[in-house]
Amino acid sequence: MQITSSLDEIRSIVKAAKKNDLLIGFVPTMGALHEGHLSLIRQAMEENDTVVVSIFINPIQFGKNEDFAQYPRTFDTDCKLLSKEGVNVVFNPKASEMYPGGFCTTVVPEHLEDKLCGKSRPGHFRGVATVVLKLFNLIQPDNAYFGQKDFQQTVVISRMAADLNLDVSIKVLPTVRDKEELALSSRNAYLSNTEKKDARCLYQALIKAKDMVNAGEKNAGEIKLEMEKVINNCKSARIDYISIVNPETLEAVPAVQHGDVAAMSVIIGKTRLIDNIILTEN
Ligand code: AMP
Repeated sequence: MQITSSLDEIRSIVKAAKKNDLLIGFVPTMGALHEGHLSLIRQAMEENDTVVVSIFINPIQFGKNEDFAQYPRTFDTDCKLLSKEGVNVVFNPKASEMYPGGFCTTVVPEHLEDKLCGKSRPGHFRGVATVVLKLFNLIQPDNAYFGQKDFQQTVVISRMAADLNLDVSIKVLPTVRDKEELALSSRNAYLSNTEKKDARCLYQALIKAKDMVNAGEKNAGEIKLEMEKVINNCKSARIDYISIVNPETLEAVPAVQHGDVAAMSVIIGKTRLIDNIILTEN
């Protein structure tokens, strides 16, 4: 496994792979890897000749009062995991090289960035879109892999790829959960044992919504009310948002249609967690 933080070196690795007609799979991450990340990596390994995983905690997607400084950094353990999976290249660029002095160009996902998580994280999605486009330009992947867990991110990236005619196929894979159905997240490391138990209410609320839809309920307002009840039953949980949205526009829908997604952000103690479910999928 090659490990490089050099932009020049990743470009020459990519050039050599392209010269040999190798299909390049790419999985962007911020490290602190868990089974959710590994599910993307395993799929990428199956579908490509060479797999690049980036580990980069992207400063421009964090707000001033967010957890950039505390975000878990486990690079050595991550590399061991990636090597075990047979990953070909780990790319861990330095922030100073990704954003040198004078950097001023960003991708703005208009109409998508101010919805759902974007309301409490202004600037987050332009930070995400910008870094992903930069990584795509460096790595030139044929296939890039993202988790459904970060639903809004998948919508922003898919839209960017279409809008900017990027020559990459965006693959979205299902959310991986622990035994208690809590969506795996690097930020779960912030939760105490009690908070982890409380955090189960997110999935319980999503399942409540899905059960209602399966039973024929279409009224998004009614479904939302029931979801709120589930979350409010848990004392340490505070709702940031719960929304039932169209999966392309992220607009809230009055009545559930095929493909619509129930998405939520809930704060447990001090930790902001997100989760979502496609309401009409089996
Ligand atoms: P992150 O390191 O949090 O930026 O995540 C890197 C990629 O892994 C993103 O595409 C995430 O959506 C994906 N991911 C994170 N957690 C999960 C999970 N529990 N299941 C599936 N994919 C995930």
